Amino acid sequence: MYNLTQKIIDCHQCDLRSGCTNVVPGEGDFNADIMIVGEGPGKNEDLQGKPFVGAAGKFLKELLASIDLKRENVYITNVVKCRPPENRDPLIEEIEACRGWLNQQVSAIKPKLIVLLGRHAMGRFLPNLRISEAHGRAFRRNLEGLGDYVFFPVYHPAAALYNGSMRPILLGDFSKILTLIKKIKAEENE
Ligand code: URA
Repeated sequence: MYNLTQKIIDCHQCDLRSGCTNVVPGEGDFNADIMIVGEGPGKNEDLQGKPFVGAAGKFLKELLASIDLKRENVYITNVVKCRPPENRDPLIEEIEACRGWLNQQVSAIKPKLIVLLGRHAMGRFLPNLRISEAHGRAFRRNLEGLGDYVFFPVYHPAAALYNGSMRPILLGDFSKILTLIKKIKAEENE
């Protein structure tokens, strides 16, 4: 995993690398049950080289604390590892350039649950779903021949910063996570 992280830091497969300050490969527990996938680094993340350290990260910390978890207990990463200029949405070719890295991170960590923050992260793994209908539900899917994983889309925590009504929805969806993981582990042992 350390090698993989270094390879991601050294990547120049798309144009985002030349415009960013730091690559943000991801951080957390390589043995975590939960992997959290956001969209891409913002300004603070780009400056610090760490995911979710700005305003959205503060709310993510609160969401994790609501289920007695800390950032260090999960692995946090993004669909693209370099900041898109002016925080624009990542382009399809940029998501594709990072596809292999994210797949390798999933394969190395083998999380029980992959929490997808927002529609861009959801679209990367679960295309053709609407976040308004899919949030807070679990989907078991084969990840491009790398085995089955359970994906759990939720709204992006940044959405709750602009729209307060999203807060209870996100807290409600997060409240399902630990029970879901117990169920997934029990099914694996059947
Ligand atoms: N938003 C994201 O999607 N990812 C980050 O790392 C920070 C903000």
